[in-house]
Amino acid sequence: MSETLDRFLSGELDVLRERNLFRALRVLEGPQLPKASFDQRPVINLSSNNYLGLSTHPRLIEAALKATQELGVGSGAVRTIAGTMQIHMDLEAAISSFKRVESSVVFQSGFTANAGTVSAILSKDDLIISDELNHASIIDGCRLSRAEIRVFPHKDLNRLEDLLKGAAQVAGKKLVVTDGVFSMDGDIAPLPGIVELAERYGAMMMVDDAHASGVLGKNGRGTVDHFGLHGRVDIQVGTLSKAIGSLGGYVCGSQDLIHFLYHRARPFLFSTSHPPAIAASCLAALQVLLEEPLWLHQLWENTRFFKAGLLRLGFNTGESETPITPIIVGRGDLAMRFSDELFAEGVFAQGIGFPTVPESRSRVRTIVTATHTQDQLQFALDVLEKVGRRLKII
Ligand code: PMP
Repeated sequence: MSETLDRFLSGELDVLRERNLFRALRVLEGPQLPKASFDQRPVINLSSNNYLGLSTHPRLIEAALKATQELGVGSGAVRTIAGTMQIHMDLEAAISSFKRVESSVVFQSGFTANAGTVSAILSKDDLIISDELNHASIIDGCRLSRAEIRVFPHKDLNRLEDLLKGAAQVAGKKLVVTDGVFSMDGDIAPLPGIVELAERYGAMMMVDDAHASGVLGKNGRGTVDHFGLHGRVDIQVGTLSKAIGSLGGYVCGSQDLIHFLYHRARPFLFSTSHPPAIAASCLAALQVLLEEPLWLHQLWENTRFFKAGLLRLGFNTGESETPITPIIVGRGDLAMRFSDELFAEGVFAQGIGFPTVPESRSRVRTIVTATHTQDQLQFALDVLEKVGRRLKII
């Protein structure tokens, strides 16, 4: 190995170890279920984004198997050469109809959908106005675009308006971008206010609904549907990797937007398209969202039950309004210890500290799903109480 690389890597890793930020990957033995075995320990799993339990739904599995048998395991090319299969087009038509938009395009992941779209549409003379807690994939897209980036404090409409007012002289395009549901805090963007400001000041509007897809709105159509803002958000991004249970991301908007992305979005142009099994499982998931509303109902029942339990115990759960509920403990080392001790007692809730969140907002993050039983959630609450008291968090 190159000595330079060796020295660089060991130095960086030492820093992580010193700060207690070095993490081994937890390994899941078996499927992604509410009760699962990680590192050979059975735990109640409060760390997955499999909101509706669809990653093991029989209809998705059957669709993936059938597509594999009929169409093979790989697509063999990028979309713009030989890798657009009929099933990709079928999935995009189903997404457009589900989201009630003119057109849509699927990317390999939510990450590439965000990064590829922002970097394709904006360029050097443009301006991006972004919520400070937006996802890394938006931030990377902003940087790749080389546009100017101005950040507004989380959900602060007054500051957003100041930035828009101050941008009156900007000659290029302006984009306001926000997550629909924020992944660390589980709070919802004030989308009606943001959209109104974007309209008033002539900016384009984009929302990343990774954690709202399959979670908010009728049948899980996302935040635009939740707030009744159809037709007023230019670019909607969603993920197929969380509530939809499979893999991928999508962008919804006008036909022209999608045609433009076919030509300019680099992950779409330069990386192979999804295997048929992925497209087929996503198609089946959309059918499940329309035909089995039980899962969405159950997700919110469980969310209410678990949040009420956390509040009764006296935990600080921040501003959460969705199935993502942080338990804020205020110190990174304490968050990691809390998470480790919960794990040892049979509950997997990820510890999150700086730099993902500010040190004083360090937390363990919990996520409930539709397929947790109330007994499992009660067990988790009992363990949280026991460990929380032991560590003097409550
Ligand atoms: N946006 C947000 C807000 C996310 O939390 C994530 C996933 N962590 C993504 C985008 C990326 O989605 P995917 O996992 O499909 O790449």
